[in-house]
Amino acid sequence: PSQGYYTRRGGVGESGDFITSPEISQVFGELIGIWYISEWMAMGKPNTFQLVELGPGRGTLTDDILRVFKQLTSVLSKCDVSVHLVEVSPKLSEIQAVMLTGGKVQPNPEDKSAYMKGISKTGIPIFWYRDLQDVPPGYSFYLAHEFFDALPIHKFQRTEKGWREVLVDIDPEVPDQLRFVLSPSRTPATQNFIQPEETRDHVEVCPEAGVIVQRLASRIEKDGGAALVADYGHDGTKTDTFRGFRNHKLHDVLSAPGTADLTADVDFSYLRKMAQGRTATLGPIKQREFLKNMGIDLRLQVLLQNSGDTATREQLLHSYDMLMNPEKMGDCFNFFALLPHHRLVHPDRKDKPESKSPLPPVAGFSELLLK
Ligand code: SAH
Repeated sequence: PSQGYYTRRGGVGESGDFITSPEISQVFGELIGIWYISEWMAMGKPNTFQLVELGPGRGTLTDDILRVFKQLTSVLSKCDVSVHLVEVSPKLSEIQAVMLTGGKVQPNPEDKSAYMKGISKTGIPIFWYRDLQDVPPGYSFYLAHEFFDALPIHKFQRTEKGWREVLVDIDPEVPDQLRFVLSPSRTPATQNFIQPEETRDHVEVCPEAGVIVQRLASRIEKDGGAALVADYGHDGTKTDTFRGFRNHKLHDVLSAPGTADLTADVDFSYLRKMAQGRTATLGPIKQREFLKNMGIDLRLQVLLQNSGDTATREQLLHSYDMLMNPEKMGDCFNFFALLPHHRLVHPDRKDKPESKSPLPPVAGFSELLLK
């Protein structure tokens, strides 16, 4: 709580420890904003929704999304929108408040479970919470970008004697030095967190991510909405991915704890399992395919045509390359969605397949069609 990375440092951005897609290009958040509008339309334009972001970093992604909502005021005019940010870092929540409200926020509002509230520059109410469970129930669109990779994992190694947990120990030979050791026998975690059908020899499991996905799936099943998860990760194939970053360089995870960003690839197969069939799931699909389906090429052309100076045009092309190039962020980042079952299959369609008009495809996972 006091010495952890996100409470002490939390260095997102060029001057920090790692850079993320929304910090690279405004186009990223704009296309995600369009995704929510497109799902809102496909789900029959409910007259209210909450946008709930887990781990909003500097607030840039929400800011870009709210700009799109503002530009599409004519479409959203009859809809009551509010923003709910789940953030544990006091430092980052302050940065978000400045970015989104110009710093005009009220701490500890009496009427809400939130620890802070304010109004966005575009006039939308914003609330801050430490935990998803504090966010009031209701029709919600959830967003988790580079959130799940930041949550703690357990590591396991298969041995001749069965599964053992990888633990952190104090090196008895070197002062102030930590080391990895294998548990001498099974542990509660080896008993509970490894899937019986696991075929890998080394696995990383993030139970906290599992619990959050269970909660998201229950909330979507009960109150409606959708969740969009974007992160680097794999579909249950990778093994040892735990690593640290400090000042944009790889950093030994065991040295100077609390001063570096610790991260592990997200196992989307585990997230899918944790939805427990309460919602449908889509993906993971590669970032470059998702953004292409969302119309990034067209958006880039418009921005290039509208920008007069060479430096801006170069910057636009450079950031497009960062997001889309398979060698950069295009292939290793993935998009994954939780959607109510009825969004993908008409409830009565099994019996009478021709009886209803087809459901609109889910943008990003298929090409965007905005009427
Ligand atoms: N989504 C942002 C930031 C990613 S960094 C972007 O893409 O730029 C991870 C974010 O998750 C930070 O805002 C961090 O403070 C927050 N975070 C980390 N652990 C958390 C937890 N347990 N609960 C809520 N937020 C958390």
